Amino acid sequence: AEHPVKLNYQSDVARLRKIVINSLYSHKEIFLRELISNANDALEKLRITALTEKSVWDGTDSLNITIKAVKDEDGTNGRIVITDTGIGMSPQELSTNLGTLAKSGTSDFLSLAEGQEGAATGNLIGAFGLGFYSSFLVADRVQVASIPPKTDRNPNPVQHVFSSSADESSYEIFEDPRGNTLGRGTEITLYLKPDSLEYLETNAISGLVNKHSSFSSSFPIYLFERWTEEVADEEGLNTPEVPEPSEALNVPSTPDEDDEAIIEVASEHDEAKESVLPKVKNVTKEEWSRLNAQPPLWARDPKNISDQEYNLFYQTFFKDFSDPLAWHHFSGDSGSGVAFKAIVFLPSRLDAKFWQTLPEQKPKDVKLMVKRVFITSDLGDDSLPKWASWVKVVVDAEDLPLNVSRETLQSNRFLKQLKQMIIKRMIQLFTKISEEDPEKFEKIQEVYGSIIKLGAVEDSKNQAKLTSLTRFSTNQRNKTSLDQYLENKKHGQKQIFYLAEIGKTPELLSQSVFIEKLHARGYEVLLLTDPVDEILVSNLRQWKGIPFQDVAKAGLQFGDEGLDAEEEKEQQKDLDEKFKPLLDWLKLEAKDIVRNVVLSNRLVKSPCAVVANIDGYTANVQKILSAQNS
Ligand code: ADP
Ligand code: MG
Repeated sequence: AEHPVKLNYQSDVARLRKIVINSLYSHKEIFLRELISNANDALEKLRITALTEKSVWDGTDSLNITIKAVKDEDGTNGRIVITDTGIGMSPQELSTNLGTLAKSGTSDFLSLAEGQEGAATGNLIGAFGLGFYSSFLVADRVQVASIPPKTDRNPNPVQHVFSSSADESSYEIFEDPRGNTLGRGTEITLYLKPDSLEYLETNAISGLVNKHSSFSSSFPIYLFERWTEEVADEEGLNTPEVPEPSEALNVPSTPDEDDEAIIEVASEHDEAKESVLPKVKNVTKEEWSRLNAQPPLWARDPKNISDQEYNLFYQTFFKDFSDPLAWHHFSGDSGSGVAFKAIVFLPSRLDAKFWQTLPEQKPKDVKLMVKRVFITSDLGDDSLPKWASWVKVVVDAEDLPLNVSRETLQSNRFLKQLKQMIIKRMIQLFTKISEEDPEKFEKIQEVYGSIIKLGAVEDSKNQAKLTSLTRFSTNQRNKTSLDQYLENKKHGQKQIFYLAEIGKTPELLSQSVFIEKLHARGYEVLLLTDPVDEILVSNLRQWKGIPFQDVAKAGLQFGDEGLDAEEEKEQQKDLDEKFKPLLDWLKLEAKDIVRNVVLSNRLVKSPCAVVANIDGYTANVQKILSAQNS
């Protein structure tokens, strides 16, 4: 056999592994969730690859995950073996995937992990792709045997082993001395630490799988229960085949000891062999139980699912480390005749870089499954628009042809309708919360207030519904909808007044000279401080037939009680005449700075204000437009 290759971890890996181990000590149980999630990913990868590369998997042998706990004879030690029949890893992949950090989020993880509670860090692990390292929470030695599928391009894969100990800064990769025992896939052996032997109990394992993984894996998970012995006659009639014993790796830690590599055969089997009698033989039989027999969460009746189950599912399935803000679980028929089940989740926060990276935003978390099997999260031309790209959705369609290539999937009518349907349900969810749960809606506004406004600008088809969901600060109250504004408008008021200044607080804006008189006379004025506010308002131009009026621009009209339009005009004429000499003098004096000087009907205490031309863009919109063009 070839000599083991000894390799040093990237320095970051060693450092990270320490942090993971230290910060998660009290939540060490997450190791199983992470390893099952990896096995699930590997099975999914195999399935997806097989769609275009038939030789990878012919569709006959079963795709599953097995977990087996093996106690040492004297009960003092033991190991857990997790095996999947997934895509497997070549020796190079073993090294790159398990010995180096391919992901870029390392420093983000480190800064987030510091000062986090253990539980929060636990969820970060999965989100940042550090799942494999959680093995060392319970094991002081981890061995990963793996072999990629036999394909036309790779007809003779060789099973290799990645081996590493918790306190070492190096790992080894070598050809598996047992040969190709797996056929295809990956087997992870955790040599448990003395303080983690509780996981040798099948009850502990099934409990963990039920808690963390039962609804997130679409492949069957089997747990080894026990060996049973059966007596059979000489011909072995009515007896199952003798199973292959589970072999533990016992490999040398240094290259020189290579020749002494031995294969340790599980003690159970030894016993079985010893008890062989003439004429009648004892046959050992493995008993396995299926752990995740219940259908995945989205396929279940929402009435029987607790909030906690939704939260857990969301965190594991989408690798987010906090609970979702809200969700909508529904089933239906998209109109194209495809029956489906879906859950739309609103995350509790947006990606920190969402706004900076808006032009490149592409949804990555609309997960399309067919008959419970993941197909793609790339909906191509039918992707959600940018404003909705953050939403997390799982959709399981009943009868899309399973073996379609992704190209044909792209042109499927179902996808087109899916996109519309997700948006419709998102808006319904927002609307329902706005009507039924003011407290939650406040949170929605905090996270998605600007997004909803962006949607109202971008999505002309849903503009009215999205605009109804927008909220604005005013000089009179904290948050109002446009409908509430209209209900509150004064008798005869013909305009929706607003003042826009991006980046200021509503409090500061409310003291502006532009709204003095309006405020004094009891008018409500929208205070627009969000960059998207002003774009929305100039895009809408009116709401329910009432035009928007920038109070910093000319063209302000009052419809005050007591003064009708005629009287107001008369009054204005008198004033214009009275102040003509002053205006003429000011115009002359300031002719280089302003275009015109007029009498104001908007000021109460301030002597004068500089305003924009009625049809000119305000300073703010000018700023935004020039930023877009540059
Ligand atoms: P993540 O799963 O987020 O990528 P992990 O640390 O959990 O991060 O796993 C690292 C990588 O190791 C995976 O991306 C995958 O390429 C590989 N890997 C881990 N477990 C398996 C497995 N059971 N089968 C195949 N590849 C695996
Ligand atoms: Mg993982």
